[in-house]
Amino acid sequence: MRFSTTLAAAAVVAGALFLPAQSAHSADKFITVGTGGIVGVYYPLGGAICRFVNAGRKDHGYRCTVESTGGSVFNINAVMSGDMDIGFAQSDTQFYALNGIGPFKDKPQSKLRALFSVYPELFTLVTRQDANIKSFADLKGKRMNIGDPGSGTRATTELVMTTTGLKKEDLRLATELKFVEMAPALCDNKIDAFTFVAGHPNAIFQEAATSCASSIATVAGPGIDKLVKDNPFYAKASVPGKMYKGTDNAQPTFGVVATMVASADLPEQTAYVITKALFDNFEDFKKLHPAVANITKEQMLEANTVPFHPGALKYFREKGLLK
Ligand code: GLU
Repeated sequence: MRFSTTLAAAAVVAGALFLPAQSAHSADKFITVGTGGIVGVYYPLGGAICRFVNAGRKDHGYRCTVESTGGSVFNINAVMSGDMDIGFAQSDTQFYALNGIGPFKDKPQSKLRALFSVYPELFTLVTRQDANIKSFADLKGKRMNIGDPGSGTRATTELVMTTTGLKKEDLRLATELKFVEMAPALCDNKIDAFTFVAGHPNAIFQEAATSCASSIATVAGPGIDKLVKDNPFYAKASVPGKMYKGTDNAQPTFGVVATMVASADLPEQTAYVITKALFDNFEDFKKLHPAVANITKEQMLEANTVPFHPGALKYFREKGLLK
């Protein structure tokens, strides 16, 4: 838990260094980054990206700040409406947005663009040990957090519920808690299970593992096989064993990729400055959170389901990362 809390605190401190009162640059241009809950992975990594951008402020005049949000769905809506400039989003949520599926039903976002991918996120089911939930099917009759409506987690959870035949009415209780509330609710015995699509390890899973008797359950079976087979943006993956107390064996599930998105209307220069700030500080970035420790620059150009933003493309071509 410690690494993420420290990072979140560091992000807050870094933000404070760039308060308007301390700036002599009245012409500063602002970049707002939509992240997730402060205890997740998007938030501290957004803080890190902003620190890299702000370090070059004298050269480019951009000032970057992060905002805590409900997650992927909220962030895509915010960048498309112009409320925010860039935001984190799961690769599957990108696809739903582009094609008008799930939370984007009736409002396809054809101008959604990707800057880069960041790191793998796994669909993770955390359960109370006394609830005896070994698979998704065992959730029938249980109290489950189906997710914050602004999260990618919620959209993916609904899809998994549909493919595995679990209806909302089958649950004894369906809550819509924020990320920060999930582990406390589980350990206070208010819910039996929650899902979270996120990088590992992270503070939320650590909190659930250390505050009460909980485990990560397997997410597998014919419904999941079909989901992965039908959708190229889903891939099988496992939560490693012994990463968290209470979960000794690797738990099969499936995953997506965390990405950074913007609207096609975001100026090319803005997208370029952000992409350059991150890629030029890549080695430092990898040290900031264990969820990004093993990523490569090449992977960061994969897994997007929407086209790249021209500003990101400009940087990739300049560096020979793309032809
Ligand atoms: N992937 C999550 C979501 O959009 C957020 C993960 C995080 O905050 O680290 O639901």
